[in-house]
Amino acid sequence: MTSTFPLPYPNADAPGEDLIARCVHCGFCLPSCPTFAVLGVEMDSPRGRIRLMKTVWERRLGADAAGFDDHISKCLDCRACETACPSGVEYGKLVEGARSQIVAARPRSQIERAIRRAAFDWLLPHRRALGAFASVSVLAKRLGASAVLRATHLRTARRLADLLDLLPDRASASGPPPIVRARGDRRARVALLRGCVMGSVFAPTNAATARVLARNGVEVLVPSDQTCCGALHAHAGERERARALARRNIASLDGQGLDAVIVNAAGCGAAMKEYGWLLKDDPEWSTRASAFAAKVKDATEYLGDIGVREAPGGLKARATWDDPCHLLHGQKVREQPRALLAAIPDLELVPLVEADWCCGSAGTYNVTEPDLARAVLERKVGHILRSGAQMVVTANPGCLMQIQAGLRAAGSRVTVIHLMDLLDRAYGS
Ligand code: SF4
Ligand code: SF4
Repeated sequence: MTSTFPLPYPNADAPGEDLIARCVHCGFCLPSCPTFAVLGVEMDSPRGRIRLMKTVWERRLGADAAGFDDHISKCLDCRACETACPSGVEYGKLVEGARSQIVAARPRSQIERAIRRAAFDWLLPHRRALGAFASVSVLAKRLGASAVLRATHLRTARRLADLLDLLPDRASASGPPPIVRARGDRRARVALLRGCVMGSVFAPTNAATARVLARNGVEVLVPSDQTCCGALHAHAGERERARALARRNIASLDGQGLDAVIVNAAGCGAAMKEYGWLLKDDPEWSTRASAFAAKVKDATEYLGDIGVREAPGGLKARATWDDPCHLLHGQKVREQPRALLAAIPDLELVPLVEADWCCGSAGTYNVTEPDLARAVLERKVGHILRSGAQMVVTANPGCLMQIQAGLRAAGSRVTVIHLMDLLDRAYGS
């Protein structure tokens, strides 16, 4: 590995000794790591990556070393290693901290900086801009732009084609109204995160989520001044940008006498439950951020916990559940979605081997590491096809797009659906 001296000193977000030292190098996490399974390289395992972080912390290696960037970038941040670890290693905090060190230490080309700015500052936080971008991209996909881009044999063009292939055939920004009143006696009042991708591509799923909650006695508010949760920024090591978005969301979604803040995108929920950690060094916001984070619930978690009041109607189909990593490993939510599926009469649930494994979506991973993402996805698609399911149910936009694209590429007609859409359908909407 090469490094430019003097070594950059770890920044405030760098994984500190307290987090690193929890790893006792036992290796129990290795069999659950998708990148270790594909590459078989110790430095692409959780244990190897933590060792690298320790080396950087001890200033024996620079955070700008190309090898450090390479192994940390190849991590999916799926956090399966966290679930497997008997020592309570908080790997998500470690890897996101390491990425922030790399962002601070490693110079980027002008083009790379411009792409990051366009994505992180202009598109993701601005719903209308992202909606327009999504509509144009979907149209380009339908007109066959992927094939044209691939024919150029240029690396960037191929990546754009990969991106287009991921998109659903239709993108809709038509979401729920600002208030959806509870049906019958009101049991609770919540705010719903609209989300960037959910709000501009899967907005009907937001509307379905609000309807399902309302049917079960929950009033849903959708504040207009909320923004992107910052999860993609944090995954990419852009923690200052993530903090700015977190502050805006706390100001928008909190303080309205709400019982909970509901999120139907697992990646966003996991990030928002960590707003306290993200803003821990901000004296003005840290306490408020921790209190806010405690109110954040995944939609399946919340509905599973309060229980359905109105039984859904029957749906005749053979379905399987795929755990989004940031729901299972990031938020430790496992039973509630399964209980909600079991509550739908006539729905035959078949088990999915490695339902707890990443599909390769992982934020922007399928764009930044397309080959590895494809290898991880092929393993997932193989298990789905062998399960005999007609539909895959999940709860995260990245997983919806990635798995559907993988199934399409395999020539399968198995569909992928968000659990809230399935429940909404079962309720007859
Ligand atoms: S992360 Fe946990 S499971 Fe993996 S090597 Fe370290 S202590 Fe062991
Ligand atoms: S987050 Fe996922 S890919 Fe990264 S080290 Fe852990 S198990 Fe492996």
